Amino acid sequence: TPPRNSNAVRDIASVLHPYTDGRAHQKNGPLVITRGEGVRVFDEQGNSYIETVAGLWCASLGFSNERLVEAATRQMRQLPFYHGFTGRSHEPQIELAEMLLERAPAPMSKVFFANSGSEANDSAIKMIWYFNNATGRPQKKKIIARIKGYHGVTLAAASLTGLPANHKLFDLPIAGIHHVSTPHHYHGANEGESEEDFATCLADELEEVILREGPDTVAAFFAEPIMGAGGVIVPPATYFEKVQEVLRRHDVLFVADEVICGFGRTGEYWGSQAFGIQPDILTCAKALSSSFLPISAVMVNERVFEGLADGSESVGTFGHGFTYSGHPVPAAVAVETLKIYDEMNLVAHVQSVAPALQDGLRQRFGDHPLVGEVRGRGLIAAVELVEDKAARRNFDPARKIAPRLSKIAESHGLIMRFLPGDGIAFSPPLIITEAEIHDMLDRFGRALDELQVQLRRESLAAV
Ligand code: PMP
Repeated sequence: TPPRNSNAVRDIASVLHPYTDGRAHQKNGPLVITRGEGVRVFDEQGNSYIETVAGLWCASLGFSNERLVEAATRQMRQLPFYHGFTGRSHEPQIELAEMLLERAPAPMSKVFFANSGSEANDSAIKMIWYFNNATGRPQKKKIIARIKGYHGVTLAAASLTGLPANHKLFDLPIAGIHHVSTPHHYHGANEGESEEDFATCLADELEEVILREGPDTVAAFFAEPIMGAGGVIVPPATYFEKVQEVLRRHDVLFVADEVICGFGRTGEYWGSQAFGIQPDILTCAKALSSSFLPISAVMVNERVFEGLADGSESVGTFGHGFTYSGHPVPAAVAVETLKIYDEMNLVAHVQSVAPALQDGLRQRFGDHPLVGEVRGRGLIAAVELVEDKAARRNFDPARKIAPRLSKIAESHGLIMRFLPGDGIAFSPPLIITEAEIHDMLDRFGRALDELQVQLRRESLAAV
């Protein structure tokens, strides 16, 4: 397809996009989005699309919200920038930190601010290393994450990320970062194995890695409650319970990466609450400000804070912080976002509309020949495409089936995101209504049927 319009041509000439796909983008050009309203975005020709994956980018309150615009404007007039370095602070970051501590899923003591999920996770790693240095255990440095976990793209966060695209060619992971298996029952469990038994195997594997490396060298375990970008993988029953038993036994800190799951996505305020996780450290971003402005946060519990605070005596200042840590404008937008979540009764709203998504996907597409698994919880879900349903076999990745479906879906008025392993994600703004969910699934159904017709035609042509 040739570039659609003049802005697409300008884009090809000038923009280097994230996760750029080499020359393909240069040939085809982008869909240029010009405005948004509620759960929808509009292109230059005025075509409208439901943003089904806003939740992975996380415009949780949708694409138009006057209160957030006003919060930013008010703050820009009042104090457009201030920093938080050595003895200075400002109201928006203080208020936001207090609100986060009040809402935390486990007792937390302090909040550190950064600008993105990657920076939050990098900051957490440095805090953990500093904490163990400050508490006289400098060798306790290694970190365990999971294959298909996603934690960002800066060099330390990319090392935690367990997806090959983040490691190949970049000499990653950095030293001391290990990955354990993905908690995906559908592909990972043995025939007939229960979720609970699969979870026991995974916890055993984690303990083996800790014992092999030496518990006095293992500092922390990073996990998303539900893996997002790696495929929307919901952990098997009892998984986090068993994992936490292992971590406590060996004094390994639990870092919950709530960058996607935080703020209602799973039908609880935090993903940690949905799965009984009691984190020592929690990172969040995205829905923290409804993505209207960049801001992220790292919450640490009292024990970690005490170590950080005492460290300046023994090992020197914790020399880490960004120019825009706690920037007042995104902080003010985040404060307003959290207020709106309270007023809309976020968790109750997600719980009330989630069945339309979760049951709707399972009932409508669970038996579809191209659908291997429908999975998810709350307002996050994925449909995994398979070539052989009985054998749970995916298509040859070279055929790029999920990207193709997402392209077809675009012509049916949906912006969709494909995931590794031929998953298609559903993670709409949290303000979505039941009627909009039905509309989204109708459109998806038409796109899926169109893909099926195309594949049938192709296989007939091949005989
Ligand atoms: N953690 C998780 C769970 C994420 O989904 C993401 C982003 N997709 C990140 C961290 C990284 O966030 P950012 O892109 O803001 O650096």
